[in-house]
Amino acid sequence: MGERMIPLPTAHPAAGPPCHECSALCCRYFALEIDAPEDRDDFETIKWYLIHGNAWIWVESGDWYLQVDQPCRYLGPDNGCTIYDRRPQICRDYGLPEKLDHPEDPLCDYFSQGVPHDMEFRTMEEVDAYAATFLARKEADRAKRSAAAKRAWKERRRETR
Ligand code: SF4
Ligand code: SF4
Repeated sequence: MGERMIPLPTAHPAAGPPCHECSALCCRYFALEIDAPEDRDDFETIKWYLIHGNAWIWVESGDWYLQVDQPCRYLGPDNGCTIYDRRPQICRDYGLPEKLDHPEDPLCDYFSQGVPHDMEFRTMEEVDAYAATFLARKEADRAKRSAAAKRAWKERRRETR
């Protein structure tokens, strides 16, 4: 099967979200920030997320997110919102108002199509591979700090004798 072609955005962010020429990309998933994993249990939780359909994890600037690719039940066949007047606040804020708080971020999904995140995880195996490296490095750091603390303690003892 050929690689999926991603159309390049034609609009400019300064003009606002070009919803009229978009296939409602932002209405086809939800994403929640989660705690960055620190230990084996945390990685097991992330693996549990990933065994569910259409769930994946992405990481940007050290922040971890769980995303579930599932269209909103109120998205119409014409890519319009069928509850526009009573859509949730988060839908109203997405795009320009949100941009004011995060000027460095792309205006919306339309402008970040095809841009990879710092890290992405879609399978348990990917998480296991990352966890093995992360936990080994963490253990090495801990051992290094512990050895340094012992050396400092011995040094202090020698000085006070
Ligand atoms: S992704 Fe952007 S352009 Fe597309 S519908 Fe959402 S706000 Fe509009
Ligand atoms: S409520 Fe409307 S704007 Fe919000 S995600 Fe659903 S379709 Fe999109």
